Amino acid sequence: MSFFYQIRESLFATWHTRCPLCSLGARAGLLCVGCERDCYHSRQARDLCIRCANDLAPEYQDHTRHTPTWHTHSSHCSEICLSCQQQPPTQAYAVCAMDYAFPAAWLMSDFKDRARFSLARPMAHVMLKAAQRPMQIRRLCAWLPVPASKQRLQTYGFSPPQQLAWHMGRLSGIATHLDWLRRTRDASPQKHRTRGARQSALIGSMVASPAVAGRWVGVVDDVMTTGSTVSEAARALLAAGALGVTVVAAMRTPIKD
Ligand SMILES: [Zn+2]
Ligand SMILES: [Zn+2]
Repeated sequence: MSFFYQIRESLFATWHTRCPLCSLGARAGLLCVGCERDCYHSRQARDLCIRCANDLAPEYQDHTRHTPTWHTHSSHCSEICLSCQQQPPTQAYAVCAMDYAFPAAWLMSDFKDRARFSLARPMAHVMLKAAQRPMQIRRLCAWLPVPASKQRLQTYGFSPPQQLAWHMGRLSGIATHLDWLRRTRDASPQKHRTRGARQSALIGSMVASPAVAGRWVGVVDDVMTTGSTVSEAARALLAAGALGVTVVAAMRTPIKD
């Protein structure tokens, strides 16, 4: 983080605000200590797969170490779920800050359904915290929001990933590029129930700018469900020559199929 950003954030830290979840005292528009523990630390304390951000299966955890073992100076890590070992996802890393469940889900519904843009900052803050370890392994050159579909824009009136990516850029000092990743057509993944069917429907629906060539980039999304959307984003970026992709999402829902 640059000196300018450090100064600005330290000034922000003196700003007394109300926690957006519980209305108790907080600072700088962020979650209070208790809500951050409930929303963020409760998820980060678990053993999570570094490739898809899902929980590692209990039987698998029994045969591995319980402390996450990210290797700071290499891209190798032993925390990979069986599903990702058998069928590696397109992205190199994926982290999600919070579970898409009570109480954090309230933040997301307020943010998206009521267009409370002020909630993007506290969510981006914990997203950046969750992304620290993969960012130590691979320094990111840019944040790229998952491009919103027409349907999403019509529903919410704005692009939630774009708002989050903008705050990620401000908080981290890493540039956010809104036009390096775009949709070529609107796929309808919601109509496909299985992960495979969603993935097939999305293939070829995004294209990346040649500017990503030779860069490791961070893809920002609001809620990661099956991972099909971020996987398609990563595919488009790698096809355009990106070195690799780290996915950072605000929330994660469990895979149903
Ligand atoms: Zn609170
Ligand atoms: Zn996995």
